[in-house]
Amino acid sequence: MITRSALIYLSGREGLKDFATRFALFKKLTTRFIAGESIDEAVAAIREINHRGCSASFDHLNESVNSEAETEAEVREYLEVLQHIDETHIDSNVSIKLTQFGLDIDRELAYRNARQVVAEAVSRHNFVRVDMEGSNVTQATLDIFKRLRGEFGLNDVGIVLQSYLRRTMDDAKEMLKIPARIRLCKGAYDEPPEVAFPDKHDVDENYVQVMQLLLSSGVYHGIATHDPKMIDATVAFAQREGIPKEAFEFQMLYGIRRDLQEQLARDGYNMRVYVPYGKHWYPYFMRRLAERPANIWFVMKNFLKG
Ligand SMILES: Cc1cc2nc3c(=O)[nH]c(=O)nc-3n(C[C@H](O)[C@H](O)[C@H](O)COP(=O)(O)OP(=O)(O)OC[C@H]3O[C@@H](n4cnc5c(N)ncnc54)[C@H](O)[C@@H]3O)c2cc1C
Repeated sequence: MITRSALIYLSGREGLKDFATRFALFKKLTTRFIAGESIDEAVAAIREINHRGCSASFDHLNESVNSEAETEAEVREYLEVLQHIDETHIDSNVSIKLTQFGLDIDRELAYRNARQVVAEAVSRHNFVRVDMEGSNVTQATLDIFKRLRGEFGLNDVGIVLQSYLRRTMDDAKEMLKIPARIRLCKGAYDEPPEVAFPDKHDVDENYVQVMQLLLSSGVYHGIATHDPKMIDATVAFAQREGIPKEAFEFQMLYGIRRDLQEQLARDGYNMRVYVPYGKHWYPYFMRRLAERPANIWFVMKNFLKG
């Protein structure tokens, strides 16, 4: 039986990444979770998502970049994405990762690169979400986000918090003081028990508590989950507290629980779909398998079917 930790471990293996991404054969396996390799393919996927009543967030797949030139190419890609969003009139913002912009090389480089993208988004009346990565970069990510938020507005740049981290309730309170727009998710990396709750029950309980704090804050936040229990808890809390549907949004990943995405949109909730695209799909794809190892059989079955 392949475990979550084993799949997350494999997601970080460079050798496997190079092997898998070189062969078109493997690419075919990814189509359920990844919208294609080019901006145009992602735009086409987002048009369809918009047609289903949902908004989107572009994610150009890449992380842990260790060459400065490559981080600059990532900035150029995002500037192009923002231009495409404007020109095609699709309903989408963008999500970025700071290790994609050089956080593992130099924090100032990551800050400068992220700043360029946020400034471009602001000039186009769009919004940048800074994704949260492993706990080794949580503090650095929050520090850079706070700098960006100091220079730009509440509706220009937002952050992500992960309910599996023990520190998250404190971080949420600190971020709300700024204030900041937060995407709440459970967390997708393999973390030691000192920093993250090992028990799913505690992760879920923390999720509900942080969700309640966010929804009560009066700021527009993103509740990112496919878990019907978390969704029901959010809907029930909002109804009980008289928080209107348009005061927050649900968020889900491309290709996961499309039925639930459509149901929530039909029920009048704001629903945003996170749309990853690009050549560097390997770590993202492996994390999706890790969340639900049954997906391995799902993708293999589709693959064999042709
Ligand atoms: C919009 C969005 C943005 C995110 N951004 C980040 C981020 O910045 N940083 C970060 O660490 N994590 C991020 N994540 C991932 C997140 O942390 C979780 O790993 C992921 O969402 C699975 O958790 P869950 O809340 O869906 O609940 P889980 O308890 O994992 O799953 C609940 C149910 O959802 C369904 N489900 C969940 N995952 C899958 C899957 N892969 N395939 C099929 N069904 C599935 C299953 O029915 C499962 O029983 C993001 C998730 C979303 C939706």
